[in-house]
Amino acid sequence: MSLTLSVGDLTIHRIIEQETPYLPALDLLPALTPQVLAENRVWLKQAAAIDENDELILCFQSYVVKTPHHTILIDSCIGNDKPRPNRAKWNMKTDDLFMRGLAAAGVSMADIDFVMCTHLHVDHIGWNTRLENGRWVPTFPNARYIFAKGEFDYWAAQNAKAELPPFADSVLPVVEANRAQIVTHDFAIGDHARILPTPGHTPGHVAFTFGKGKDDAVFSGDLMHSPLQARYPELSMKFDVDQATAAATRRAFLERYCETATLCCTAHFPSPSTGRIKRWGNGFACEAMV
Ligand SMILES: [Zn+2]
Repeated sequence: MSLTLSVGDLTIHRIIEQETPYLPALDLLPALTPQVLAENRVWLKQAAAIDENDELILCFQSYVVKTPHHTILIDSCIGNDKPRPNRAKWNMKTDDLFMRGLAAAGVSMADIDFVMCTHLHVDHIGWNTRLENGRWVPTFPNARYIFAKGEFDYWAAQNAKAELPPFADSVLPVVEANRAQIVTHDFAIGDHARILPTPGHTPGHVAFTFGKGKDDAVFSGDLMHSPLQARYPELSMKFDVDQATAAATRRAFLERYCETATLCCTAHFPSPSTGRIKRWGNGFACEAMV
């Protein structure tokens, strides 16, 4: 399986940190019925999107996008050395899979010009920082870290009420190091990278679109987690902060890109995680490029 894709004048690398059963489908998607799950089990298994225990299999990954001018990291995965007691596979991790993935893509930490976070959940900000002599420091020393203002403000307010370790160890140290750029929705990098607001999963969640003058690729973050939600966009997941908005955002996003040439790069769909959006009944499929 190739982890490198080319579209337009972009080169895209997948940097996989984990690909693993996550939670039972019926738990993660509260509106999913056992009947609908049964009707879809065959193709979900063929897509390696569900295991024998009906747990949804998710990939946890970042993308590196090389434009003619910049090297950009989209989301920064789980990270190492971080106390995440609620999830054993993420807690105080010490493996080198992410860093080896970067190296395999021919990218060094110093090469990253921008880190762009679709939202500030724990599995999208982890490698923003790394532990150095007991302190959290930005992992990518030359990068500007792009946080959407609505998302940053939401989590800053939550963190002010009670400290949120992921925000405290993976976002605030970047701000304190003067590496953060809090941006509004009109932010762009040259004529190659833009923001597409996609609220619902979190209040300030954004997608990123790339391509000169047109969307050659879109990075959808967590507006959907499983191909089952492309098939049934109304199925919100239990961690969507606003379930109704998430469902409306999902359908609008899929309709926007349906039957277009835009490569959709999802955060969590099982490998290959990327494809073009096609219509499937009243829903959609993300068809891998051949
Ligand atoms: Zn996520």
